[in-house]
Amino acid sequence: MNLNFVRKLPIPKQVKTRYPVTEDLAAIKAQRDEEIKKIFTGESDKFILIIGPCSADSKEPVLDYISRLRTVEDEVKDKILIIPRIYTNKPRTTGDGYKGMLHQPDPDETPDMFNGILSIRDLHMSALRDYGFTCADEMLYPDNHRYLSDLLSYVAVGARSVENQQHRLAASGIAIPVGMKNPTSGDLSIMMNAITAAQHKHTFIYRGWECVSEGNPLAHAIMRGYVDYAGKCVSNYHYEDLVRLFEIYQKSGLANPAAIVDTNHANSGKQYLEQIRIANDVVYSRNHNKDVKNMVKGLMIESYIEDGAQKIGEHIYGKSITDPCLGWDKTRQLIYKIADTLE
Ligand code: PEP
Ligand code: MN
Repeated sequence: MNLNFVRKLPIPKQVKTRYPVTEDLAAIKAQRDEEIKKIFTGESDKFILIIGPCSADSKEPVLDYISRLRTVEDEVKDKILIIPRIYTNKPRTTGDGYKGMLHQPDPDETPDMFNGILSIRDLHMSALRDYGFTCADEMLYPDNHRYLSDLLSYVAVGARSVENQQHRLAASGIAIPVGMKNPTSGDLSIMMNAITAAQHKHTFIYRGWECVSEGNPLAHAIMRGYVDYAGKCVSNYHYEDLVRLFEIYQKSGLANPAAIVDTNHANSGKQYLEQIRIANDVVYSRNHNKDVKNMVKGLMIESYIEDGAQKIGEHIYGKSITDPCLGWDKTRQLIYKIADTLE
């Protein structure tokens, strides 16, 4: 066999018992979940920013970044609700490279899954305890979701996972918004099928159990651009793309038609500074058309302390080691600008 079973890891329940969310913190999460749900169901017209680094590479700079978001959110909170990105699992296009904090709690060291589980829980817990933020993470491995399920307020299913049945079934059993990204090929029907599957009830095997899910009416679309047959990035955040998505939703009969626009990835062609223009463009499209306004609930922005990205080992504090991010000063200005322009 080419597979070594190295050690048995604790199950989510054991980790949650050892590192519990206290009643006070659970109450903050419940209140935030309720507010976020109201945005997705249309009861609230606040605008969501799912914002933060491409990967949460290290505790100190990520919490430093989140502390800055806390100050800004307090200034714009009548219009904007911030959900920090703490992305602890990174999908790799070829499978090689840094797979996130879950695999490598220290990016310079070899993988350590046990400490990875504890590190990602500690980071999400610190964001909640120290700054009152429940955060977003990508559900790259559906079986691992429950290590963080009492801490998260938003889950994304990535462009490389959205066609996978287990992701869709697991999403149908989650009680917070799950964003389904359009696949890297751009086919919107794959994303819509994922939303349909997640909104329905299913019986399936999960973590060795026969499970029955209730369906997740908060499953929705994330437009992240795509790559064509020649490898060229094609965006899908423009006004016409959003109107087309609205029309697809109209015919679908899905609950709570909602979309988040990802301003980086194939929408910016990873030209991270373009995120400023793209974010403003989406807010403009929203102001222009009531249907687009009601459907587009917010943006996903890749942002960190420093502009751009670095290679692992360069050790520049607060600079992304995966996709290039918008630095803090530009991010802060952008959030103020969005708050001023939102109608
Ligand atoms: C990400 O959000 O960092 C990411 C990997 O997204 P996608 O699945 O759209 O490539
Ligand atoms: Mn990214």
